Amino acid sequence: MYITKAKYTAKQTPVSLSLCFRIHISLSLPHFLSLSLYVFMVQARGIQIRENVKNIGAQVLEQVVRGAHSNNGTDYAYDFNSSESEAPPTTYLPEDFNYLPSQVCPERLPTMKGRLEVNMTEILLDEVEHSLLRADPSLAPGGYWTPTDCQPRWKVAILIPFRNRHEHLPILLRHLVPVLQRQRLQFAFYVIEQTGTEPFNRAMLFNVGFKEAMKDLDWNCLVFHDVDHLMENDRNYYGCNDMPRHFAVKLNKYSYMLPYNEFFGGVSGLTVEQYKKINGFPNAFWGWGGEDDDLWNRVQLANYTVSRPSGELGRYMSIPHHHHGEAQFLGRYTLLRHSKERQGLDGLSNLNYSPQVSRRHLYTNISVSLTRNLAPIADY
Ligand code: UDP
Ligand code: BGC
Ligand code: MN
Repeated sequence: MYITKAKYTAKQTPVSLSLCFRIHISLSLPHFLSLSLYVFMVQARGIQIRENVKNIGAQVLEQVVRGAHSNNGTDYAYDFNSSESEAPPTTYLPEDFNYLPSQVCPERLPTMKGRLEVNMTEILLDEVEHSLLRADPSLAPGGYWTPTDCQPRWKVAILIPFRNRHEHLPILLRHLVPVLQRQRLQFAFYVIEQTGTEPFNRAMLFNVGFKEAMKDLDWNCLVFHDVDHLMENDRNYYGCNDMPRHFAVKLNKYSYMLPYNEFFGGVSGLTVEQYKKINGFPNAFWGWGGEDDDLWNRVQLANYTVSRPSGELGRYMSIPHHHHGEAQFLGRYTLLRHSKERQGLDGLSNLNYSPQVSRRHLYTNISVSLTRNLAPIADY
């Protein structure tokens, strides 16, 4: 029997805030109608508190299970100290700063304002396409864009694993394209869509996306992006780094706390050089979970130290959805014990696939039917 992952759809609010809210309401309730409203709201808050507790509980359980299964030295102590210091980053350039077309674009541009509005209302892809093109007609097919007032510091391929989340994609593109333009990156979007009946394989889709994207352009930076993650701060710079980067540090669904120190899910980034060095993602993780943990192990084994945006820059909201959860991959802990042995055997090196590629205006669509014999692995 499959266990499906609990889905976290309730809007998250810290427990203390909920309590404050409750006290406030109770002081201003003069008559019966308001009382029934009050009872309803208290119940709703109760559900929210239970959701928060459930999420945190799930993560505590996760730590226990991870602890019980780790014996290869690639699981690390549980601590929250791995993000950059909370000290404010060096100053952003002033509004009137003039950079030259011949110069490399700065990383801290005046156009990067910080906190963003997050709009999750559903919209048609066509409408997003029209409004983005109206705002900047230089946006080319495949969602390709490059700055003209300076030389882009990074050439970034944004890879999005995808199956049946059609309502999420336009929301993400509407949110992210203007941010990347303000960050003066050269970029394009690749949506890698899994067809066929096998369980979802997020990691293998990234490997396919990487190989296909490199046929277009010599990208030097890869961002691995869940379709339902919306950044809350445009200073979370999507360029790469001398170390692999974990961008999605604080998620609303985990009450804006890093669930565990080795968490590497949601949105992460590697240079092409780093990605090749670790043999890409593993292909052996079918179903929900574990592939991001294996990537974490791979970067550690290659002696990299993951970097993270500081303070509030790494905040994200994820779009609530009503889809059934993908079946959990229960074999992940066993596989994770052998990350080291598998690293050279399973990844970019054993990948075999036949994609169907089509260019849309805002992204390149790569449809691929994945089966287990496309990435055979010798015993390990
Ligand atoms: N995904 C998808 N369809 C699926 C399962 C996953 O498109 O049926 C992609 C999508 O990009 C999603 C990511 O894989 O954001 C991670 O899956 P999910 O959101 O279910 O994982 P969770 O956020 O629950 O960890
Ligand atoms: C899974 C990861 C997932 C994390 C947070 C872990 O159990 O192995 O793939 O990102 O939980 O949800
Ligand atoms: Mn998700």
